[in-house]
Amino acid sequence: ARAQAMEVDESPTVTYSDIGGIDEQVREVREAVEDPLVNPEQFAKVGVDPPSGVLLHGPPGTGKTMLAKAVANETDATFIKMAGSELVQKFIGEGSRLVRDLFELASEREPAVIFIDEIDAVAAKRTDSKTSGDAEVQRTMMQLLSEMDGFEDRGEIRIIAATNRFDMLDEAILRPGRFDRLIEVPKPAVEGREQILRIHTRNMNIADDVDFEALAEELDDYSGADIASLTTEAGMYAIRDERTTVTHEDFEQAREKIEASDDDSDAAAR
Ligand code: ATP
Repeated sequence: ARAQAMEVDESPTVTYSDIGGIDEQVREVREAVEDPLVNPEQFAKVGVDPPSGVLLHGPPGTGKTMLAKAVANETDATFIKMAGSELVQKFIGEGSRLVRDLFELASEREPAVIFIDEIDAVAAKRTDSKTSGDAEVQRTMMQLLSEMDGFEDRGEIRIIAATNRFDMLDEAILRPGRFDRLIEVPKPAVEGREQILRIHTRNMNIADDVDFEALAEELDDYSGADIASLTTEAGMYAIRDERTTVTHEDFEQAREKIEASDDDSDAAAR
């Protein structure tokens, strides 16, 4: 059961150079996660506690998981991922047990970075309905907070959580000693979009006519994940045409296709 709920990556391969458009966020994550792992004496000497937990928040597909993986990779830490939705369990004590397993595994594999995606699933503001399900979620959350309180003495474990629903979080988890370092990860601006286009086409055979700068201008509101699928889609047009290079027109067609299907799903949502 443990193996199902948690994703363990002994040596993730994502690096900081794979992440585009969020340099400031990379810097902040390194400061909050990497420095305390690599250089704990420095914190001891200055006499400050490193941040307990880091919370990444922002829209889907902006690189939050990549950031957590990259910092694990660059510190030679084991990456252990758990989805908040997995922690929400029907049976009493089950969620807390998963949390205990998570931290136990991390201390067996330290240095380790624990990444909890969709933290809002276990840390949403309390609602008025006092159903038993809510009480169980609450218990899981309390278990998580108490594990976080304990691990300072336990060595080289850092914890990163992520959410797309920052507004839904219970303030209790943001207090000092808990997720006390907030980092917003937005959708990329135009320069960031160009960087991400270049990153995702590094291994592609790109025709001379491709103008990434112009393309980036057009990709208003695209997330990093959207840009990644755009590049794959552009490659598919070249393959269908039995060409070995990807042209500017391929990117434009990919964009039109993606935007048309977005319009369809918007329409379906209405
Ligand atoms: P979610 O909130 O949906 O879990 P996320 O913010 O964790 O999303 P990731 O899983 O890190 O997003 O990104 C998904 C994929 O999108 C990545 O594997 C990568 O291919 C691409 N991607 C997203 N953001 C970036 C970025 N800033 N630079 C380069 N690639 C990116």
